[in-house]
Amino acid sequence: MRVAGIWPNPSTVDWPGKLVGVVYTQGCSFDCVYCHNHPLIPFSGGRPLSPEELVAEVEETYLGMVEGIVITGGEPTLQPDLADHVKALSDAGYEVGVDTNGANPRAISSVLGSVSRVALDLKAPLPDYPRVVRRPVSGELILETFRLLNDWGRGRPPWSWEVRTTVAPPLVGRQEVLEIADLLAREGFSGTFVVQAFRRDGTRPEASFLREPTVEELVGIAREAAERSGIEVFVRSRLGLKKISPGLDARAASTGPA
Ligand code: SF4
Repeated sequence: MRVAGIWPNPSTVDWPGKLVGVVYTQGCSFDCVYCHNHPLIPFSGGRPLSPEELVAEVEETYLGMVEGIVITGGEPTLQPDLADHVKALSDAGYEVGVDTNGANPRAISSVLGSVSRVALDLKAPLPDYPRVVRRPVSGELILETFRLLNDWGRGRPPWSWEVRTTVAPPLVGRQEVLEIADLLAREGFSGTFVVQAFRRDGTRPEASFLREPTVEELVGIAREAAERSGIEVFVRSRLGLKKISPGLDARAASTGPA
């Protein structure tokens, strides 16, 4: 597996309720306009690590302080030996989570026996994918990944199965989130839906037309999505994670950047 880096400190935000380490893989099949990890898009960087080497580096980095490891990217499912690394971490006693862009359902299927959490980025309503990820991608493939995970996630503990959408107006805004919520409702969604704010930090010049939504805007969109679809929606912002219930007054939230 090509590893771009291991986050030096335990994280409290990458797996709600758990203290985890984070491993970044090198290479991604998308080129999202708002990507703030764009140095991880080319497949040429990073260091190749065997499963044993990865476990050793994780142990050396976190010194037993973390319960789990989140493998993110880049796009982890494009690493041909991802399943071996997930199993090695799991055998070493870590709960393992994988973040994915959903474009490789076969790879996701290969790790479902060893992971405790998967977070899928649903970036846009399926027909809109090309304008957000700027690569040819089949919506059917994303849907296949979603359905695989939706079956796997049924009945699992909270935060095992997360779908998240980055709100980045005018590219991805209220209308797109509502359409995604409709899709989740139609599919009998079994996980947790999170809307999160686009952040400009670390993005490229082509993202300059995007706007960071305010917390108020994000809460308003999430509340509308929850009321319309009947599914639970969470907002992830600089203020932390907040569950949105129908009737919550969005004006009570901060009006600063989310
Ligand atoms: S899928 Fe993630 S890593 Fe890949 S380009 Fe999009 S935001 Fe960046």
